[in-house]
Amino acid sequence: MTSNQPATIPAPVVGSEGGDGKINLLGLSPEQLRDWFNALGEKPFRATQVLKWVHQRRVADFDDMTDLAKSLRDKLKALACIRAPKVRLDQQSSDGTRKFLLELEGGGSVEMVYIPEEDRATLCISSQVGCALACTFCSTGRQGFNRNLTTAEIVGQLWLAERMVTRAVNHNRAISNVVFMGMGEPLLNFEAVVNAATLMLDDNAYGLSRRRVTVSTSGIVPAIDRLAERLPVALAISLHAPDDALRDVLVPINQKYPLKDLMAACDRYAQVVPHGAIIYEYVMLEGVNDEIKHAESLIALLGTRRDAVKINLIPFNPFPESGYQRSSRNRIERFRSVLKAAGINTVPRKTRGDDIDAACGQLVGEFEDKARRSARLAEMGLTEIKVTLEKS
Ligand code: SAH
Ligand code: SF4
Repeated sequence: MTSNQPATIPAPVVGSEGGDGKINLLGLSPEQLRDWFNALGEKPFRATQVLKWVHQRRVADFDDMTDLAKSLRDKLKALACIRAPKVRLDQQSSDGTRKFLLELEGGGSVEMVYIPEEDRATLCISSQVGCALACTFCSTGRQGFNRNLTTAEIVGQLWLAERMVTRAVNHNRAISNVVFMGMGEPLLNFEAVVNAATLMLDDNAYGLSRRRVTVSTSGIVPAIDRLAERLPVALAISLHAPDDALRDVLVPINQKYPLKDLMAACDRYAQVVPHGAIIYEYVMLEGVNDEIKHAESLIALLGTRRDAVKINLIPFNPFPESGYQRSSRNRIERFRSVLKAAGINTVPRKTRGDDIDAACGQLVGEFEDKARRSARLAEMGLTEIKVTLEKS
């Protein structure tokens, strides 16, 4: 085959097309890439070579793939591309945290946060533009849902971040952990997220261990079971309330998947992942969910699971007109000591990148009015419930 178009062009894998009809190789799982190479009449080991060039060395130009024959490079140039989202803004905090605003093809933008620490570097990535689930304390939830990200746009965030932070096209990896805690509900974009995570785990791509890729969910029960079957990575459950009455308000999807069902799904998940691979997140909202009685109900909810779980207490990140306030350090400490006394491993999450508003899970977007929010909830069969403050 020469550099001209081949007689039959293999059909692009759905969801991986670049804007010009070319296949975006960033979006193909190792298996899909092998299948596509097979359809091109190329050997499977060529697909592995390309996988390594794309994800390990993170080249964007087929001409840089020097161990491929020129004829194959030309063929790839004609049919495929390597295209990640574009960086529109790159803000660096005094503590080293970097927040990126990324622009997607066809409009829309998402945020990604890089958080370096002494012993690790975590990348917080987005899975959707906006989110339909309308949690009351979440700025992404206020925006409403726009669209799902493609696999290429999800894995493209890791590809891009590695290039940005290592400042080079090479074998070195800077990022040790990936968390789906940016914009969107990852389990409502299931296939693209699983495909992207598969690439993150693949030894010929990013080679991260299952424990270092965390999917955070507000509790989409059937999808938790599907994840257990397909790709049991680490799981973060956004709990935020110890009883259904309060959780129905803060995390409205609880009206559909109440705590009893959610905890049962977590128990099933715990059977397929190593000890400690499920963490519970609890955002600390002053006077709303941070009283001693909430800590006590939480202990009761966890019951016999309490030795096996880890709870992350997240200081609420305020945003304009949220209606909530971050719990004081004292209240967070008080809550934590009640849980600790019951033997629960409880870790207050450090706030990072405060000066650039870069905390993971607090990615500010545009606001919509309340009427639209109620209508969106109604579309999902959920109701708008007002929160009552009961500050002590
Ligand atoms: N949709 C998923 C993942 C994205 S949100 C989920 O809800 O789990 C990631 C985390 O940030 C969740 O635990 C979420 O509840 C939390 N979060 C959202 N808004 C926040 C805010 N304003 N302050 C602190 N944490 C917030
Ligand atoms: Fe969506 Fe998660 Fe925000 Fe809830 S907290 S609205 S599920 S992004």
